[in-house]
Amino acid sequence: VTSRYHCEFAWVDAAVAADILIEIDGGRITSVSRNAGKVADAVQLGGLVLPGFANAHSHAFQRALRGRTQNKRGNFWSWRDSMYTLAARLTPENYFELARATFAEMILSGVTCVGEFHYVHHDPSGRPYANANAMGEAVVSAAREAGLRITLLDTCYLQGGIGTAPDGTQRRFSDGNAAAWSARADRLRELESSDVIVGAAVHSVRAADPESIARVVQWAGDSGAPLHAHVSEQPGENEACIKAFGRTPTQLLFDRGALSDHFTAVHATHVTDTDIRLLGDNGCTVCFCPTTERDLADGIGPSPELESAGVKLALGSDSQAIIDPIEEMRALEMNTRLRTMERGSHSIASLISAATANGHRALGWHDGGRIAPGALADFIAVDIKSLRTAGASANPEILADAVVFASVASDVHHVVAAGRTVVRDGKHLSIDVANELAKSIAGVV
Ligand SMILES: [Zn+2]
Repeated sequence: VTSRYHCEFAWVDAAVAADILIEIDGGRITSVSRNAGKVADAVQLGGLVLPGFANAHSHAFQRALRGRTQNKRGNFWSWRDSMYTLAARLTPENYFELARATFAEMILSGVTCVGEFHYVHHDPSGRPYANANAMGEAVVSAAREAGLRITLLDTCYLQGGIGTAPDGTQRRFSDGNAAAWSARADRLRELESSDVIVGAAVHSVRAADPESIARVVQWAGDSGAPLHAHVSEQPGENEACIKAFGRTPTQLLFDRGALSDHFTAVHATHVTDTDIRLLGDNGCTVCFCPTTERDLADGIGPSPELESAGVKLALGSDSQAIIDPIEEMRALEMNTRLRTMERGSHSIASLISAATANGHRALGWHDGGRIAPGALADFIAVDIKSLRTAGASANPEILADAVVFASVASDVHHVVAAGRTVVRDGKHLSIDVANELAKSIAGVV
């Protein structure tokens, strides 16, 4: 059944165009027509229509930490203690509720595809549940009910630090060895569908030894699955890796075969010039998480340098400190301005690609993140008559700049994901999101 959407403005071929008709069928865009005029049976989408955002790095459960870690001095490592306390309380049942509400918040902010970097696998003592993938299945079911696409990046996490056994809550994360991780990840593949991809992740060079990293790389390479890893988020990680192996985390991952066009380095905040060249030469993606990186006092990564080296940039909400892909886009450029004292390092097309096509590619959805015939039918409409953008529509040339540099998540008023309308007039059609967030968070804090 063909559905038609008439867009006041839409982002097509890396530019704003007025009066666009999108036709979809079977979850795909079948045609995109210019100068369409009003079509009687078309849904009218006011504002600027963009491809749905890909949130390429998420830990859904960390939504419950929002506002609970702010009022004390500390750094990434002290924040991590609070995160472990929360992680210890998760069960398949309460994680399903929390993830469903968190994914619904994402959809309301325009996210139609999430990459869930998933490492809370086992019960609090570290023993597998009767169904060893109970937690991963809960996360996938949550995404299905919320109505977005998911790439579950099942994460290999075997050590508490380089050469040290997992301790406390970390025991939930560990499969004991890479062979056991691989066997469990194989079974997870049964969940794959038109809206679900199962990929792999190495938590970090801290949490997996070099031989295990090679095993995960092989698992992902055998199937062409996306492979992600946290890389150089903290100087302390670099120091420990250089001390143990005489090379940086990026160089260690390269030596173990990880770097390819299926690989995404998450953060890459503290990378060297050699690391940047390796990531670029191997066609890698780097996923920045600017609102989390500033929240955790990580630092500002070299995004223009990476882009110039040939790296594709993507974006993620990571710790869910806030969920606002528009803010992530502009933070990529704004952080760079603060660091370099120059404006305009990233073009508007580059920022939108980071939030859309590049993120989809990093998550294995190679036909997502575009408004074009054949692409996934995932798109969103952003209000251009809000307090933040009023006045911009008089000049379509500046419309995308006004949206990226001034809009907020709540300006997203309509979301179509996999061909289905999930959000209309700023409301999720099946979930009372704020209420579900409050209830599910109360169940775990
Ligand atoms: Zn992360």
